[in-house]
Amino acid sequence: ANPKDEVGRLTITINGLLSRLEAALARREEALERQRRFAADASHELRTPLTSISGHARMLDEWALEEDPQRARRSVGAIRREAARMGDLVESLLALTRGDEGGGLEFGRHDLAAVAEEAVQTARATADGRTSVEYARPARAVMATFDRDSILRLAGILLDNAVKYTPEGGKATVRVRERDGRAELEVSDTGIGIPDSQMPFVFERFYRADPSRTKGGAGLGLSIARQIAEAHGGTVEVSSKPGEGSTFTLRLPKKSPGPREPGL
Ligand code: ADP
Repeated sequence: ANPKDEVGRLTITINGLLSRLEAALARREEALERQRRFAADASHELRTPLTSISGHARMLDEWALEEDPQRARRSVGAIRREAARMGDLVESLLALTRGDEGGGLEFGRHDLAAVAEEAVQTARATADGRTSVEYARPARAVMATFDRDSILRLAGILLDNAVKYTPEGGKATVRVRERDGRAELEVSDTGIGIPDSQMPFVFERFYRADPSRTKGGAGLGLSIARQIAEAHGGTVEVSSKPGEGSTFTLRLPKKSPGPREPGL
């Protein structure tokens, strides 16, 4: 063969390899940046309740115990609340990390309608009558392959939000059905809804639409929900009308889960 041709072919091959390497490095860099962002956001979220706990503890230490038992009790209450918030947050962070590592899912054949029923019962207890939670369990089982604990958690997140973002007297409705060969869980509410401008972001980690209307969450619930759905080869989608309500829909393949993308 002509050595010149040979060199030309080699150059092309090497250039191709180089640009693939470059692309891989850029993806790595992006993943690292997302990890840095995640760690920074997580630390920030943890620092807020921690600051509050330290402040109240200092107050107790300095004077409240002896001089003002009522005030002391308030501080103890605040410490408990903030500690519980930190506990929830740490749980969520752990769930996200586990999901990123792709581990811990135990797939089995289950009835999505039964899982929904369990989540509804928990939500009714939490809502305490302020929001009604309606569910008509379908006559037939809606079988699919999934990790029961994770899907129960996902349903819990959607229901929790439906109750949280619906004013007193409103309604959350759960539906489970089979459609287009997939198992579907739909959670709709008559709540405050989500403005169009915020729709693209609600599934992002630490995203809270307008913090002034948020009720204490760290903005992790929906990102965990989406991560769980994707680990099953499924999807979660939202449609919403501000002032009227929102509908979140989980769709799961009925057969074994598809390939999953690593998160973060
Ligand atoms: P959190 O509820 O802890 O703030 P999520 O990740 O669960 O975090 O939700 C992100 C944001 O999406 C919320 O802050 C809220 O603004 C919006 N959102 C979620 N669910 C609903 C809902 N059912 N109705 C209205 N807004 C919602």
